[in-house]
Amino acid sequence: MKIIDCLIIGSGPAGYTAAIYASRANLNPVLIQGIQPGGQLTTTNDVENYPGYPQGVTGPVMMEDFKKQAERFGTETVFGTVTEVQFSKEIGGIHKIIIDNKTEMQTRTVIISTGASAKYLGLESEKKYMGSGVSACAVCDGFFFKNQDVVVVGGGDSAAEEATYLAKLCNKVYLLVRKDQMRASKIMQKRVLETKNLEVLFNHETVEVMGEQTVQKIKVLNTNNNKTYTIPATGFFLAIGHNPNTEIFKGQLEMDEVGYLMTKANSSLTNLPGVFASGDAQDSIYRQAITAAGSGCMAALDAEKYLSELH
Ligand code: NDP
Repeated sequence: MKIIDCLIIGSGPAGYTAAIYASRANLNPVLIQGIQPGGQLTTTNDVENYPGYPQGVTGPVMMEDFKKQAERFGTETVFGTVTEVQFSKEIGGIHKIIIDNKTEMQTRTVIISTGASAKYLGLESEKKYMGSGVSACAVCDGFFFKNQDVVVVGGGDSAAEEATYLAKLCNKVYLLVRKDQMRASKIMQKRVLETKNLEVLFNHETVEVMGEQTVQKIKVLNTNNNKTYTIPATGFFLAIGHNPNTEIFKGQLEMDEVGYLMTKANSSLTNLPGVFASGDAQDSIYRQAITAAGSGCMAALDAEKYLSELH
């Protein structure tokens, strides 16, 4: 079996940036696209904060551009999902990667860029308006709701941060917290409570997202008195956490209690030689396309250095 130099798992900004750098360094990378080719950005309509696109770009078009750029330098993209990994613990060891439960690939280095998935409530109506008023990223989509009224769901630091961010842009922000208290840090809670156009609705749950083509109102349940009512709003933001897509690495790579991969400071190095992590799979804080792309670049440079030190 042919042993490749660099295998990249995932096709978001981190994976494709790693592929661009690895292919230009003659590592002949093979990139496995995964369940959602193009990653989370393919569910975003307009990307306006990625440098180099002065007029903005849609998520799917941007990811197609990333792909073309990686393929231009010889990256081989494979349609399929990694279902199992058997990482070597030895320096210079060969890592085995199984695709779709059947095809085995062998590689000297692996760059993990499997991303993370935002958690959703699981409502049918929420799915219906995805990209038409429903979003899980205030920094990405908040601008489209300038001077409008929006609803944010969640009670953690993400919700507090997203709600205060949106309050700077929007006319009014309602924060739905399902319990009678927030889980966010005290300082974030204070910031939330001190923001004038931000109203926290404790003991509130979402019943339905409603509208015509786009979101127009949110039906909520006040669990204190068991009454439902609607809040007029054009945006509905979920901030109830993310799940890193790292399940298949459990037991082999070090991760935090949520499942984010641990990397050595200022690098993409994991606890195993020749295995590197980039993008949202190892970043619970920034989670932006540009930071993911930057860390994909780091992973490719680290992989190149590792390989050159083997010879
Ligand atoms: P968390 O898991 O901390 O919080 C999730 C929040 O969403 C909780 O309030 C939870 O409610 C609520 N929630 C979960 N499921 C539902 C549901 N089905 N319906 C309604 N509400 C729901 O996630 P975060 O993304 O906020 O934070 C993740 C980590 O990242 C944390 O460690 C956080 O501190 C950190 N972080 C730090 C930031 C910073 O320091 N600037 C910014 C953002 C995140 P409940 O409390 O009732 O369980």
